[in-house]
Amino acid sequence: MEIRVVENVLAYNKEHAQDNRALLKKNNIFVINLLSSPGAGKTSLIIETLKNLKQKYSIGVIEGDIASTCDAEKIKGFTDAVVQINTGGSCHLNASMIKNALQKLNLASLDLLFIENVGNLICPVNFDLGQDITAVLSSVNEGDDKPVKYPPVFIKSDLILLNKVDMLKYGDFDKDFFLKKVDALNNQAEVLEISCKEGTGINAWIHWIVAQMNKT
Ligand code: MG
Ligand code: ZN
Repeated sequence: MEIRVVENVLAYNKEHAQDNRALLKKNNIFVINLLSSPGAGKTSLIIETLKNLKQKYSIGVIEGDIASTCDAEKIKGFTDAVVQINTGGSCHLNASMIKNALQKLNLASLDLLFIENVGNLICPVNFDLGQDITAVLSSVNEGDDKPVKYPPVFIKSDLILLNKVDMLKYGDFDKDFFLKKVDALNNQAEVLEISCKEGTGINAWIHWIVAQMNKT
């Protein structure tokens, strides 16, 4: 039965996620799993974060992609602790892929780890990787209907980022509509409006991360 198979896959994933979480905790590493559709700006956000926090923390990045290493190449200019996972067509990262990637990082030296998931708003959120925080990034040029079309990722995220707010003046993105829909799905998560291009909201994002790290 198909349902049974899915349950088994998720149970198998959960075991690896628990192992990852224990290993990451032991090494005192705060982990953010970053989700979005393709092109929303995950890599740009990670680069802005590295620019702001690399003096203060040692930061690693795990890059998930179906193929290619272009995002990892971009990140390499800002940190040496980058591991690329090519999923070979799979549309999400799973905890066992992360377990392998963690072996390639010097965990004792890291304070903060970003996992850039495969660009996809559907299944990545179902796979616990061992992270502390799940953040979803939605961008203005994708339209204001993403919370309506893909509720689970907004429901299960701890932080919701609206990127490319510099584009608000050009399109017909209805920000009030977007925020209202987000709030109806998840009124616990903080929502930050940012523009990686213009730097808007990046300070708030940096403060948010540091506050979360200080809590743990
Ligand atoms: Mg990217
Ligand atoms: Zn998938």
